[in-house]
Amino acid sequence: MHVIVAGGGAAGMMAALAAAGCGHRVELLEQNEKLGKKIYITGKGRCNVTNDCEAEEFFRNIVSNEKFVYSAFRGFDNHALMELLEEGGCALKTERGNRVFPVSDHASDVTKALTGLLHERGVSVSLRQRVVAVMTENGSVSGVVTEKGEHKRCDSVILATGGCSYPTTGSDGGGWKIAEELGHTIIPPKPALTPLCLKEEYGRLLQGLALKHVSLRLVHGKKTIYEGFGEILFTHFGISGPLVLSASSYYVKACYEQEITCVLDLKPALTNEQLDKRLIRDFEASRNKQFKNALDGLLPARLIPVIIKESGILPEKKVNEISREERQRLVQRLKHWSMTVTGVRGFSEAIVTQGGIHVKQVNPSTMESKLVPGLYFAGEMLDVDALTGGFNLQLAWSTGYQAGSGLCDG
Ligand SMILES: Cc1cc2nc3c(=O)[nH]c(=O)nc-3n(C[C@H](O)[C@H](O)[C@H](O)COP(=O)(O)OP(=O)(O)OC[C@H]3O[C@@H](n4cnc5c(N)ncnc54)[C@H](O)[C@@H]3O)c2cc1C
Repeated sequence: MHVIVAGGGAAGMMAALAAAGCGHRVELLEQNEKLGKKIYITGKGRCNVTNDCEAEEFFRNIVSNEKFVYSAFRGFDNHALMELLEEGGCALKTERGNRVFPVSDHASDVTKALTGLLHERGVSVSLRQRVVAVMTENGSVSGVVTEKGEHKRCDSVILATGGCSYPTTGSDGGGWKIAEELGHTIIPPKPALTPLCLKEEYGRLLQGLALKHVSLRLVHGKKTIYEGFGEILFTHFGISGPLVLSASSYYVKACYEQEITCVLDLKPALTNEQLDKRLIRDFEASRNKQFKNALDGLLPARLIPVIIKESGILPEKKVNEISREERQRLVQRLKHWSMTVTGVRGFSEAIVTQGGIHVKQVNPSTMESKLVPGLYFAGEMLDVDALTGGFNLQLAWSTGYQAGSGLCDG
């Protein structure tokens, strides 16, 4: 069987390897001048290839359509990926949070290993080849059309053209147009794992300030749509950092572009009562100081004026003049600092795309389209996305492998 794979990212390379492993003649067409352009920038250039966790933990980290990937993950899981990369000469190590990286800390070694394996398995790789359409005959796939006007005939096509985040890497959403022309439904793409924009000026005032060990809650009406613990970073437009990126995926899923409330707990390890007792102790030790000089032990210096303003207590007030009500208002602000989320940053800053090919139109055991026999999908172009930690690449590897090996029985 002659198979054409469109898109030489993580999913496309894996699909090509799996299809070639079944003895098919495989051609991989990538529009860029090199394979895996996005892989080079993953994990800040170190590529967090996967997460060395149990299956249950993997599925817990999937944000959209977790059930759809059960079969793909079981068919080619994180351990299978690690084995394959090591076989290709890329030694791996596991870091905090089970995140797996190349020992060399170079993302390029991941692509190098995969390229070597593609070569070994006889996959023909053509660069600067953009697929613009998939041809069909009697409703089944018969080939592809490239931007150069070439009509390439084949028996099956695997589309692995990515989402539309970081479009400079080549993931420009073009593959969805091809799928749409063949009758597929595209769930509208949204930027996910992205910073959040705030209505208030906190970002501008606190730009560059990182807060570790805080908890964050997103509240839409009366419903909590996300709750997590970790690190946030103030930026000129709002907030970012690992905790915020995770929160953003649930924000875009539940209430994209709507104004919602974000509540920060700056002292999650303490209850209101414990924090009040701590303040009583701190205030006792600095009873003759002005309020603005009494919070050094509790908060980073830059945060103090902002929280003082939030508390409504005059900064020059003597600490021994602060009333119980005022102190409790301060506790309230520290435990429930409320801000307004107005939206997310765009695709150019989104680590992943939420939305894509409707999974109901794809067979989860093979990744074959239910509408067009011989057409397969893999990777971020599917309506599947996950949190950070190596889970998105694992989705690309698993669905890519599933698509390539889905051709094995044919
Ligand atoms: C900054 C950043 C850091 C990230 N870090 C991590 C991380 O450390 N760990 C993790 O798990 N995930 C990470 N991700 C997410 C992860 O990189 C993606 O989810 C994953 O690369 C998706 O793989 P893919 O093969 O589906 O798509 P892509 O990697 O987008 O590959 C698609 C390929 O198809 C090509 N293409 C597009 N259209 C056509 C066409 N018509 N014809 C031919 N070729 C075409 C593109 O040029 C591209 O090379 C990160 C993402 C970003 C943006």
